[in-house]
Amino acid sequence: MAFPSIIQNLIAQLCKLPEIGPKAATRLVFYLINQPQKELDELSTIIKSLKNNICLCSQCFNLAEADNSFCSICQDKKRDKSIVCVVEDILDIIPMEKTKQYQGLYHVLGGLISPPDGIGPEQLKIKELIERIKLSASGEPRMNDTKEVILALNPTTEGDTTALYLERILKPLNIKITRLGRGLSAGADLEYADENTLTSALLGRK
Ligand SMILES: [Zn+2]
Repeated sequence: MAFPSIIQNLIAQLCKLPEIGPKAATRLVFYLINQPQKELDELSTIIKSLKNNICLCSQCFNLAEADNSFCSICQDKKRDKSIVCVVEDILDIIPMEKTKQYQGLYHVLGGLISPPDGIGPEQLKIKELIERIKLSASGEPRMNDTKEVILALNPTTEGDTTALYLERILKPLNIKITRLGRGLSAGADLEYADENTLTSALLGRK
């Protein structure tokens, strides 16, 4: 290569990032070269301390500030604590929040049931979901009192399998169970759904 080894090394590191190919990585490196040193210092400091400054919310498993046990959504007194929206991963919270229509809480499963990949219910935060609803129904002072669970899982085979499983095990808990995603096309990814589609899927849930 025509450039110093540090440039090659940085390109190689950036290529490991999702959706970054060699061309994009090269462009990023030359963009960084043209930035003031202060900007580069700031960027590297943030990356360095990233993992030390976050933890998982002990209620919903969204990301939280490292010194808090609850995420900003669970802590928000204005949120409707009677609705819990179940999502596959943390990134699925972003499009839901973007709709500005959803005011309830979340529960991040951390994946979907997929027997070929060896992922069963016990690998996901399903036990924690049931525990959370049971405790809120028992009359003990809790952060939430769940009346409805919205299953906002991608309309894929794994999403459907997980939704059916959850419907079955949540049924005895006597809460309303609704499903989002009917309005989403089959195989669609919640993460990339546009706000209008997601809003109508949310309002038309049943
Ligand atoms: Zn939370």
